[in-house]
Amino acid sequence: MSALAAELGAINLSQGFPDYDCPAELKELVSQAMQQGYNQYAPMAGLMSLREVIAAKTEKLYGAVYDPETEITVTAGGTQAIYTAISTVVNPNDEVIIFEPAYDAYAPAVRMMGGLVKSLQLEPPDYRINWEMVKRLITNRTRMIILNSPHNPTATMLRKEDIDQLISIINSRDIFILSDEVYEHLIFDGRTHESMARYAELRDRSFIVASLGKTFHVTGWKLGYCIAPAYLMREFRKIHQFLVFSVNTPMQFAAAEYLKNEEHYNYLPGFFQQKRDHFRAGLEQSRFKLLPCEGSYFQSVFYDAISDEKDTDFVVRLTREFGVAAIPTSAFYSKGTDFKVIRFCFAKTQETLDKAVDRLIKV
Ligand code: PMP
Ligand code: GLN
Repeated sequence: MSALAAELGAINLSQGFPDYDCPAELKELVSQAMQQGYNQYAPMAGLMSLREVIAAKTEKLYGAVYDPETEITVTAGGTQAIYTAISTVVNPNDEVIIFEPAYDAYAPAVRMMGGLVKSLQLEPPDYRINWEMVKRLITNRTRMIILNSPHNPTATMLRKEDIDQLISIINSRDIFILSDEVYEHLIFDGRTHESMARYAELRDRSFIVASLGKTFHVTGWKLGYCIAPAYLMREFRKIHQFLVFSVNTPMQFAAAEYLKNEEHYNYLPGFFQQKRDHFRAGLEQSRFKLLPCEGSYFQSVFYDAISDEKDTDFVVRLTREFGVAAIPTSAFYSKGTDFKVIRFCFAKTQETLDKAVDRLIKV
């Protein structure tokens, strides 16, 4: 959809990335690191200064103590952390439970390892997990459950009730968790991010994935990290070492400095909530029907009052005829299930959002 938007000169609200630049101070820090000669390989697990601030942030936000020496690894974006975590524990014929709509990077990694994807379809508008159905999917071959909160594409968040159910389900079983928390700071209306790190029973078996690309508005840096208990991180690093060995050094320096100031992430809920509210208020005037948006930088809408086209066709027409690109959510279902829902990314300037709304109210 990004390619189509570029080809047609449309406003691109499809792929999730900001259309504004990152803070100047952050770029200055990268350039300082380069000037000072930090241009060679970083340590395999990441710069210790960065791992230390990640540990401090995780403790402050979620009350969980992780050892930067043995339990934190800096990765090439959240994507590499996801692939590496999956390949660390999934063996041929192991089953992995995935909730759909699901971010597109999970299932292929499971299959690459010879694993079997067991997916549970969630439905709009609320996309809540039915934990009784999860119980029925579990077998003695279930190796991992993949969670994502705040969620891409649905913008829902796990609640305490979900956590209680999850704990009761896995307590007596040997199941690992991959928790994709790349939108941990994009949370609205005073909600709590239910990180796995908050719960000892979950933390002990979880790989938690984060993305500094999301946190610092620099998706092109491909910088992220994984935190996990030492017994899992030891195995994770055996793969990480031979997949990438280490991640770009100057960006790690910049991130380590920048993360020291908690204001550099504490402002994010307010920053994105303002964008969400502005965009939603604009769309209220359109024929699209808004779905809830609890977290992330995505807003989903029903278009069934406008058209009964397939979502994959509708987004192409929307781009061609109205000049706004979106993502069809059927792309996040393995069976291509079409609920007439499309996803917009609102990590855009007010000007872009206003222009997009002007066009969308004509649809
Ligand atoms: N998980 C989810 C749910 C995402 O939306 C993204 C960003 N596209 C990622 C992981 C990957 O993050 P990164 O860009 O840091 O690789
Ligand atoms: N996570 C972003 C999205 O869902 C983009 C990443 C990608 O295109 N692979 O839009």
